Amino acid sequence: MSVDDCIFCKIIKGDIPCFKLYEDEHTLAFMDINPANDGHALIIPKTHANDLLSIEPDSLAAVTMTARKVARAVSGTVKPEGINLMQCNGEAAGQSVFHFHMHVLPRAVGDELKMNWGLTPGDMDAIGKLAERIRSNLEA
Ligand code: 5GP
Ligand code: ZN
Repeated sequence: MSVDDCIFCKIIKGDIPCFKLYEDEHTLAFMDINPANDGHALIIPKTHANDLLSIEPDSLAAVTMTARKVARAVSGTVKPEGINLMQCNGEAAGQSVFHFHMHVLPRAVGDELKMNWGLTPGDMDAIGKLAERIRSNLEA
């Protein structure tokens, strides 16, 4: 797949809308539209890389810093019992979008979430409202 067809590159360019949470020079964070749990967010590098095996170290470091920032805001908003940082490489590992991304995945005791959790569309209105609340909890 070429970068031109990459759905996350299109989100970075603004060709496809997203519920944006945070953006800096190197990264973009937005809500997952098929949330495994409420507050499920994605962090991506602005420079396209398919996966962990090909991402540049500086880009990975920037994604990790943004993941921490967003996880803290998600935690303060949704108050989950736990959070997974999750990142998939290759179809067998559950990767469906081949632009590196880190999942910030709120967890609850007994939610029985499995690694390849599948995609179920969320309620866009509810996701948008939750994004607004998470943004208001972002620290400087
Ligand atoms: P993967 O399965 O590759 O680890 O995760 C890809 C994630 O991207 C999935 O959780 C899926 O819901 C999300 N996703 C796919 N297309 C879009 C989109 O157009 N917008 C948003 N916000 N998320 C998307
Ligand atoms: Zn891309």
